Amino acid sequence: MTISIAERVPLAPLTTLGVGGAARWFVEATDEATARAACAWARERGVTLRVLGGGSNLVVADAGVDALVVRIALRGLTHRERDGAIELTAAAGEPWDGVVARSVERGWAGLECLSGIPGLVGATPIQNVGAYGQEVSHTVVSVRALDTSTEEIAEVGAAQCGFAYRDSMFKRETPGRFVVLAVTYRLRPDGAPTLTYGDVQRAVAGRAPTLTETRAAVLAIRRAKSMTLDQPNDANRRSCGSFFLNPIVEAAQAEAVAARSGDPAMPRWPQPDRHVKLSAAWLIERAGFTRGEREHAVGLSTRHTLAIVAHDGARTADVLAFARRVQDRVEERFGVKLAPEPVFWGAG
Ligand SMILES: Cc1cc2nc3c(=O)[nH]c(=O)nc-3n(C[C@H](O)[C@H](O)[C@H](O)COP(=O)(O)OP(=O)(O)OC[C@H]3O[C@@H](n4cnc5c(N)ncnc54)[C@H](O)[C@@H]3O)c2cc1C
Repeated sequence: MTISIAERVPLAPLTTLGVGGAARWFVEATDEATARAACAWARERGVTLRVLGGGSNLVVADAGVDALVVRIALRGLTHRERDGAIELTAAAGEPWDGVVARSVERGWAGLECLSGIPGLVGATPIQNVGAYGQEVSHTVVSVRALDTSTEEIAEVGAAQCGFAYRDSMFKRETPGRFVVLAVTYRLRPDGAPTLTYGDVQRAVAGRAPTLTETRAAVLAIRRAKSMTLDQPNDANRRSCGSFFLNPIVEAAQAEAVAARSGDPAMPRWPQPDRHVKLSAAWLIERAGFTRGEREHAVGLSTRHTLAIVAHDGARTADVLAFARRVQDRVEERFGVKLAPEPVFWGAG
């Protein structure tokens, strides 16, 4: 199969942060055969293969990437009933929020709290996308993926995905090995919405909300934090969402951090394995950063401490320098090293 490979394609417009250089080679895959052919093209030439979705969790180096970037554009949704549940299969190039909207309209519960997250379906299992009390690991049944090591298509079951907090086998153990082609989610027809998260509970207080109302509440909360991309004039629009993960530390270290902060009410969430999750946003604020704080063309969002925003004229190097300053100050103050959430291509 012959595929049409473009050269030196700027990646900044294809990412939500909007910085970084070009892809040395670039192809768009609208079907599985093209994804496979791209994989073979890269292998034959000894070129690295990189997979691009909606570019909403990605930081590309100013010098660009010396790789074949495959932009995933496979579309299509199908569903079937199975044992009283709905198994919804979405092609990797489907915009994620469209899939959530569709499932909510049909009365299928399981994705409603994941409303408004940018990006495409194929990336959702990579970092086990999550928000407001749900993560895709709660519903993923299987992931259809091209295994680039064999060039065969594999059906990866949920148990093999190795899901964890913003993590999976795809991201942790074998980054780049699998090109996700489709994902199947198991949803509950006429199911009740998930209302475990404080902000969502407060937004619907005193009511038993429908899935549609829950989605609307989540979207409103996210918009107030500039965590959706549907507000074109929002000055905080160019980000990757949260730039840092909430750190998960041993219980003793959590105690030490609380002692250093001098605040016994420090937010913390004990985990089942006796580790404790801390709030990266709280640590950043207590380390002395304020929302909207800027260094030239890069700064924190005015509405969300965890988001680093690129303004006009920003380069990737500026974003990385700013992120490093945040990490260093938090580490100095609390002894905790914040890990970035986005994926870096040729940078950082
Ligand atoms: C405003 C904003 C809010 C956000 N809020 C949240 C949130 O609440 N929760 C959350 O979890 N995330 C959030 N994010 C991060 C991001 O939207 C998600 O991680 C999303 O799933 C990334 O999808 P994408 O298609 O844009 O992936 P990309 O950014 O294109 O890629 C991210 C990574 O996944 C890989 N990848 C992408 N597609 C595939 C594929 N088909 N096969 C194999 N690998 C692939 C890429 O190679 C890369 O390593 C937010 C981002 C923004 C900008």
